Amino acid sequence: MTKYVAAIDQGTTSTRCMVFDHSGHVVSVDQTEHEQIFPRAGWVEHDPREVWTNTRQVAAGALAKADLTTEDIAAVGITNQRETAVVWDRTTGEPVYNAIVWQDTRTDRICRDLADLGGGQERYRDRTGLPLATYFSGPKVRWVLDNVEGARARAEAGDLLFGNMDTWLLWNLTGGVDGGVHVTDPTNASRTLLMNLDTLSWDAEIAADMGVPMSMLPEIRSSSEVYGHVRERSALASVPIAGILGDQQAATFGQACLSPGEAKNTYGTGNFVLLNTGTDKVMSENGLLTTVCYQIGASAPVYALEGSIAVTGSLVQWLRDNLGILGTAGEVERYARSVEDNGGAYFVPAFSGLYAPHWRSDARGAIVGLTRFVNKGHLSRAVLEATAFQTREVIDAMNADSGVALTSLKVDGGMVVNELLMQFQADILDVPVIRPVVNETTALGAAYAAGLAVGFWASEDDIRQNWAQDKQWEPTMDAETRDRLYHFWKKAVSRTLNWVE
Ligand code: ADP
Repeated sequence: MTKYVAAIDQGTTSTRCMVFDHSGHVVSVDQTEHEQIFPRAGWVEHDPREVWTNTRQVAAGALAKADLTTEDIAAVGITNQRETAVVWDRTTGEPVYNAIVWQDTRTDRICRDLADLGGGQERYRDRTGLPLATYFSGPKVRWVLDNVEGARARAEAGDLLFGNMDTWLLWNLTGGVDGGVHVTDPTNASRTLLMNLDTLSWDAEIAADMGVPMSMLPEIRSSSEVYGHVRERSALASVPIAGILGDQQAATFGQACLSPGEAKNTYGTGNFVLLNTGTDKVMSENGLLTTVCYQIGASAPVYALEGSIAVTGSLVQWLRDNLGILGTAGEVERYARSVEDNGGAYFVPAFSGLYAPHWRSDARGAIVGLTRFVNKGHLSRAVLEATAFQTREVIDAMNADSGVALTSLKVDGGMVVNELLMQFQADILDVPVIRPVVNETTALGAAYAAGLAVGFWASEDDIRQNWAQDKQWEPTMDAETRDRLYHFWKKAVSRTLNWVE
């Protein structure tokens, strides 16, 4: 009997396989990290072969841990770090270069040159919902074709394929050089700067501007349907692969934000607020992205407004790994609790420039407001507060774009175990912050997409019913304090701009 659905969650720092039961509870999980490759300042790469090896490993691990076989699994869904671009050879299956990760800023010049063709940073906004920025995959593909010897000729001859991580894994899982399926879903495609948001198809004109041959691009199918079956050599052999959602859209789905006006914020490497806007595509005038939220089978696509923040949890990692002042990420809360407040210190982590709502690739990080008084506790607090302040910026933009003020915020991701941060977030937003019982919403969302496609779950109502609250934080800060702190945050942000010349 098939009692479970599996999800492969290919994240920025690690790859997980999780198995869920019908109530949406986690039955089993296996996870492994991959190497973060930083060849130069501003560059971030992953080895796609390592990620593929890890995927097979964690799939086998998750099944073994719960003593399951492939017969127990009704379907598998894929969710992935979006915008991270892989280019590989269709006949050898070999990547021609490492995956260029979403945080990488090497395409700054390419983006500026495209902006100079006319229309500036907003050149493709109408069609794609996105500003021209280093974040997205299209310019990364251009960089590979321009910089890897012989790549452009091979691409033009039809020998090279492109995909975000979802497509790379799907192609390999379904057989690779031996009949691999070259497909993506609209949530991933909407992060390339190459997809038209209305037609959900590739835009030939933008692809030509970008210098990306159309033959490299995967077929765009819905987020929930059977794309193919896992091949023999993997632990999930013969299981249908039936769902693909970019990680943030998957979290939105897993949080049951299925009606217009519902929003979630995921606190991971970065933070990503998504507001479901239904079948209406809302174009942002305040620095947010318009993106596909999901498309279930043949139904109309559902759109979202998104506020993407590049650096939140990874700032905690930076404190731990680059400065060595924390033993573990969790210690940041203990140090932050050792002091009353931030002592006047503000930390703007513009490591990849600033994303929403600023979209400034010329910004770089800064710690400001320092005096001899400031200690490790204050700095730890400033690090956590940076996450909450950046979230406030995108929520303000969202309220302005949608014309409706958010009344509560559903949260998930690795940082939401941090109770000091959750309280401060409620205080700075002045709305309640709500954490669900199942915090693994990204993997859960992908499992839901796959399970819906094969009838394991009957409808979206099952998803709504499975959602349950764990804890809620109420705002307690007075308005004057909130306004003062946010005023200094904005002042701190202004200090980081125009840094790169
Ligand atoms: P991703 O899916 O983006 O890889 P996760 O959702 O697994 O990320 O979250 C991991 C992030 O959460 C890391 O950047 C880590 O620094 C941060 N983190 C983990 N525990 C804590 C904690 N107790 N307080 C603050 N941040 C934390």
